[in-house]
Parts: sequence; structure tokens; C-alpha cells
Amino acid sequence: MMITQHWLTDAASRAMDAILARLDLERGARPYFWVDYQTQPPQAQHSYWDTCDIAGRFVDGLALARLMTGRQDALAAEAMLRHFLWAQQDASDGLFYNPDDEKSETNAEMSKYIPAAGVLTSGRHVDLFCQRAPLLAMTTLLQLGDDTMRPRLEKMVRGLAAIALHHGDEWRFPAYRWAQTMKPEWSAPVNVPEKWIGYRYALLTALARYAEVSRDPAAIDLALGLARHYMRHGDVPPDGHYRANTHSGGVLPVTVGIARLGIAFEQADMVAWAHNVYKWTRANMPEFGFLPDGLGMDGFWAGTCETCALADFVHLAVLLSEAGGGDYWDDIEKVTRNQLLENQYCDRDAIRSTFPGIADDVLAMLHGGFECAAHPNELFIYVGAEGCCIGGGMRALYLAWRAAIDTRDGETRVRYGISRTTAAVEVVGHEPWAGRIDVTARQSNRVAIRLPSYVNTAHVAATLDGQMVDLPIIDRYAVFDSLTPGQTASVQYPLPAESRHYHVAGNAYEAEWLGHTVMAMHPDGGRYPIYQRGDWLKACLHNEDTEAMSPSAAKSPSTAQPVVDTPMLW
Ligand SMILES: [Zn+2]
Repeated sequence: MMITQHWLTDAASRAMDAILARLDLERGARPYFWVDYQTQPPQAQHSYWDTCDIAGRFVDGLALARLMTGRQDALAAEAMLRHFLWAQQDASDGLFYNPDDEKSETNAEMSKYIPAAGVLTSGRHVDLFCQRAPLLAMTTLLQLGDDTMRPRLEKMVRGLAAIALHHGDEWRFPAYRWAQTMKPEWSAPVNVPEKWIGYRYALLTALARYAEVSRDPAAIDLALGLARHYMRHGDVPPDGHYRANTHSGGVLPVTVGIARLGIAFEQADMVAWAHNVYKWTRANMPEFGFLPDGLGMDGFWAGTCETCALADFVHLAVLLSEAGGGDYWDDIEKVTRNQLLENQYCDRDAIRSTFPGIADDVLAMLHGGFECAAHPNELFIYVGAEGCCIGGGMRALYLAWRAAIDTRDGETRVRYGISRTTAAVEVVGHEPWAGRIDVTARQSNRVAIRLPSYVNTAHVAATLDGQMVDLPIIDRYAVFDSLTPGQTASVQYPLPAESRHYHVAGNAYEAEWLGHTVMAMHPDGGRYPIYQRGDWLKACLHNEDTEAMSPSAAKSPSTAQPVVDTPMLW
């Protein structure tokens, strides 16, 4: 049986539709951050986060989605969104300002953690967390060849340095916001977000990447100084055992930046520090990718998973593994196949039955979007859907898709069996239908296929154009020395089935694994159950003609897989 399907590109195409659906074209493509479920049927609302943070994530997300899917539609809407984002950048200091538009509607979800804290949004100001996404978007576009980004980025970096304080080898920001007139509550360590140190340094994810790509000396100096300050005075104790909100609290976005700086500028202490944070995070989450939002904390958020944090986690795993500081390819594959894909809302009928009477335009904002507060077995348990996670989910998909195949110096390394075609190879991953990865050469090259951690390498069968071959397996890679165009290398191995038990926030769960894929989660979730993959797999196995789609996407059309040469965007 031959089943080829492209989980990640299909998911990216759905996410792209969700991003486009959230653009309010009557307000210059201002995105909707918030879909509120407290009203029935749910309503889209504009929010504090729309203007810089979400617009930045969506500019970045659309660029990544086009790379993955090859889609060229909706260019006018994308251009309008970019125009909207650039309008938030101040021409004199290069910083992105949240406007003075505090009203009950635009204040939606300013602080989901302490709604009663009355965190004011009044007065035009710079929110440091909200610099991260525009900086990421501009760096992505710069790497894609848009040189008009360069002066914007240079100005922004100097604007950031102008509002930071310099002491010895450190740079720091005195508060999480900045304006000509500072308000005392912006630096009082009482409520969130002012008591989260990482919130104001989360922009390091993007600043580190810009510093690495541009080699702009001002960016390098500022990024390294902010990183040193956070490592010494931030939310993470020396042993790495932090307790914090992983994404919104900024810990993981900052750590991604520190890892990158350490690798790019040969700062071994930074790589080691980031590695400790990764290991602690990994030790505090079930292996199917359920990364708790409030890691090590109590309350609602300790038992939910935000997709944005999965993007940070995958990003960190890729950086550390690429640099040879760890081998986390199995982590990336497990997170991607499981919680990341399951966090996406893919079933229109289930959305409609959860929210009877939902308008078509609001449904389109949800469908293809990603959950901000999942349980291990269900979605839609929070009071609304945040737009950030569409950008986060898109970024996680891109990172996992891009990292799966690496071609350089005449050698292609296939890190896990995700189906994808590049200029050098076409990879078809057969899991969960079979333990098998096929790689067809499109150019002459040496091909090394990594075997998942559950595989006993003594039980691997390797073939070249269907003929059994005896191969060296080096560090879990089956190495095919030279493939010519059209030749197909294949590895096959037993796919183990196993039940494993987990405890998340005081609740017990049982996951049925097949290789690295969770096929079912018990007990079944209530509102929008996830991991309902068993019946679908059986149907596929009994009907070879079944159109191949991911379990999550059983009701969505499959998209074609484009052949694209993808630049390194991390
Ligand atoms: Zn999010």
C-alpha cells in the first residue's frame, strides 16, 4: 500500500486561510486577535494585541505559509496587512507603538491571567513584548530578499538601545513598556505582565536572528547585553528549574534568542544555559508535546497548552540539535505529529456543533487556527480563541517542516519521516501506516536517513530500488552512499504499538501510541475531542484508494505538495 500525504503543508494551508479570515479589510486589514465564546454565537473582537503583535505574527506567518504551500492567492490582502503593520512603526525612533485606543472592545484580553488587575492600555506606548513579532516579520522578509526591511530594522535596533540602560556588559529595559512619560505601575512587580521579566526580553527571539543575519554591530551588542542581563537577573534560577508562563511570560522566546546568540557568536555559556532550560521544559511535559502554559504553577493555565509555546519549543530543539548540542529530532517529530497538529481546529462540523449559529466569517477565523488553551484530550475549553496561536502554529509547522530535511555539501540528511519534496529529494514518510521512509533522489547525492529512537537498528531492512542492501548505520542514520536521480532508498522497521499513562494537572490520561504517533487519548474529551485517529487509520488500511489525509484533516481537502527551495529562516 502506498499512502502519501503531507500533514504539514495541508496544515499550513489551513492556517493561512485562518490568518486571511482574521484580517478586517474595512479597517485597513487590522487583524482580529480575539474570538469570544462568552457571547453565543461567538463574536470576533478587536483587541490591544491586534496592531503590533498579531499584525507582525501574521506578516511572518503568511510569508512562511507561501513558502510551504506555494500558494500565490490573496496578495492584495497581504499587501494591505503589511501596510497596516508598517504604519505602527514610528518614523523617528523605529519602534512599534500601540495606539491610544483604550475602549472596552479593544481592551479585550489584555491580561488573561489576572483580568481583575485592570491593566490599562491607555496612552500611545511601546509594549516590549509587542516588538517581537514585527521584528521577526521584518527579519523573515529581509532573509527572503526584501532589502527595504534593512533601514527599518537598523532604526528599530537603535530605538531599542535608546530606551535601554547600559551597565558594564549588560543592557536592560527598566519596564515592560516605554513612553515619553513612564507610569510607575509599568515597573511595579505586582501584577502580570510587569512582574514577568521575560515579557520585556521576549523580543530576543527575533533580535538574535536579525543580529546573526545582518551582523549589524549595534544589534549584536544590544542582543548579547540583554541576554547576559536575563541570564543573571531573569525568571530562571541558576539550576534552570523555572516556574513561569512559558510563552506569554517570555521564558521560552528569550531562551530561543539566547541559544541562537550562543551558537552564532560562540558564547558557550549561553548555549549551556539555553540547553538547561530546554531540558527542564522537556522534563515537565508529556512526550506527546503537551507543553503546559503555566509550567510548575497552579491553576487553570498549569493544565493547558498554548500553541505559541510549541513554536518556541520546536525552535529551541532545532537550534540545539542543528548545533550538535543535543539530538532532539525525536522530540520535534513527537510534538509535531501529536499536540501541534491536534491543536489545530480542522473539523467545521464539530466547530458548528460546539457553537450553534456561529456566523460563517467567524467560523473561518477559527477553522485552521490553533488552540491557545488545550487539554490533552480536548479543545475549546477557554473563553475564546487568541489569534497569536495561528502565527505560533504556522511558525512551528514551518520549523518542523524545514528541519526535516537538510541538504549541504552533496549530502541530504532526513531527520524524520515527514513527507516533503525539495530540489534534492522527495521524502515520503509512511508512519503511522507503516514503519517506513522512502527517499527518491532528484539530484545526485549521498542520502542519510535517521531512524526513530524506538527502532532497534538490528531490525531495519534497507532497500535501493526495491533490492535489499546492506548498509552502515551511523549514529542512527542509515547511509546510502551515492544516489543518482530517480533512485529510491527506503528503510523499513517494525512500528511498535504501546499504551502509556500520563498525569497532567491532576488528571490521568492514557495514550495509545503507534511509533511516534498517538492514535487515541483516553478518556475522550468533551467539547472538541482530539486524538480521534484510530478509526480513521483502520479505514485507510482497509481501503488502499482512500485519499490520504492527516487524521485531523479528514474533512478538509488535501493540497498539492510544491517543490520549493526554502531558505534557512531561523
Ligand atoms: Zn498564542
